[in-house]
Amino acid sequence: MTQFAVSNNELLIGGIPLSRLAQRIGGTPFYAYDRQLLTQRVAELRRDMPPELKIHYAMKANPMPAVAQHMASIVDGFDLASAGEMKVALDTTMSAEHISMAGPGKRPDELRQAVAAGITINAESFHELDTLARIAGQIGITPRVALRINPAFELKASGMKMGGGAKQFGIDEELIPEALLHIKTRGFDFQGFHIYSGSQNLKAESIIEAQQKSLQLALQLADACPGPIRKLNIGGGYGIPYFPGETRLDTRQVGNALAVAMASFKTAQADTEIVIELGRYLVGEAGIYVAKVIDKKVSRGQIFLMVDGGLHHHLAASGNFGQVIRKNYPVAIGTNMAGEELENVNIVGPLCTPLDSLADKMRLPKVEIGDLVVVYQSGAYGYTASPSKFLSQPEAAEVLI
Ligand SMILES: *Cc1c(COP(=O)(O)O)cnc(C)c1O
Repeated sequence: MTQFAVSNNELLIGGIPLSRLAQRIGGTPFYAYDRQLLTQRVAELRRDMPPELKIHYAMKANPMPAVAQHMASIVDGFDLASAGEMKVALDTTMSAEHISMAGPGKRPDELRQAVAAGITINAESFHELDTLARIAGQIGITPRVALRINPAFELKASGMKMGGGAKQFGIDEELIPEALLHIKTRGFDFQGFHIYSGSQNLKAESIIEAQQKSLQLALQLADACPGPIRKLNIGGGYGIPYFPGETRLDTRQVGNALAVAMASFKTAQADTEIVIELGRYLVGEAGIYVAKVIDKKVSRGQIFLMVDGGLHHHLAASGNFGQVIRKNYPVAIGTNMAGEELENVNIVGPLCTPLDSLADKMRLPKVEIGDLVVVYQSGAYGYTASPSKFLSQPEAAEVLI
């Protein structure tokens, strides 16, 4: 993990030594996100992607309001998954016309708020289209609607598959012509399509294949549309490396192939805005989670470091958020970065369950009580993806530096 600098044996976040930052915050545990790393990531991605491609931020990865506001200034749009996220999004400088909402089981009250806000709703069922028609009649506003398609294909080699086969997401590809008819008869403002096939993918070939298939699918459906395809969201799925042996996604390879596919798409549909939506790829590597060592003991030959944070703040690092076999997230001793004396340690939290582990048998610089443990790759699916009420422990702070 080289994106954070080290000085005087301490990790720096936005130029601030970690222990100084902990004093400024008033304690541990906390999440810290680095604004400059966010900006850098988006700039690097734009360099690799076709220039006319729109990059949206999938806010569920990290909905901290300050992060959302920063992202609003560097991406082209937001994709939301709830009315709660919509509030955060609309409080930023991002305009409603660049915001869309997806997700299965949107409640009528959420849909009403979304219609009133003027954001695009990625409809995912026939019942949702019925509800939107009722809302339109009640409040007299024409809904902006795109259809989320559950494609027949899958995103291969994905950490999480969200399309292909039987899924709760989207409307099956075979039923899309019928759904388009509903949109036409109801006079909705048709926006286009949303095709999201999966998440956390490090294989360029798989992403390229899914992007090409998404563009083809939209072209096949073009004739059945009630109007031009204004927006085509071809999903994302760009992953980040979490574990030893994982190699970075080759975004240049993805971008080159996408440029070719988009050029061919544009010969048939010149005015379509093509969008990708990314969460963890934009924010995941820009964040760390920090907890303090409050006890150290040896049990039958193994060293245990007890820290003041754990799975209640960072479920994913404990290995309980979708991992099949627990693997250690990258961890460092932020207050002893250059320590040469190493020891094998287990880092555990205060919860009364063996699941509350942040590191299993990791070789790290020697730790004293009071040292600060850092978990990298924590900018996405950290705090808001964790059961923070479990065992009534204190909350974690979140800061954007
Ligand atoms: C979760 C989600 C994303 C973001 O996924 P990442 O793996 O964080 O990039 C994007 N779009 C939709 C529809 C999602 O549900």
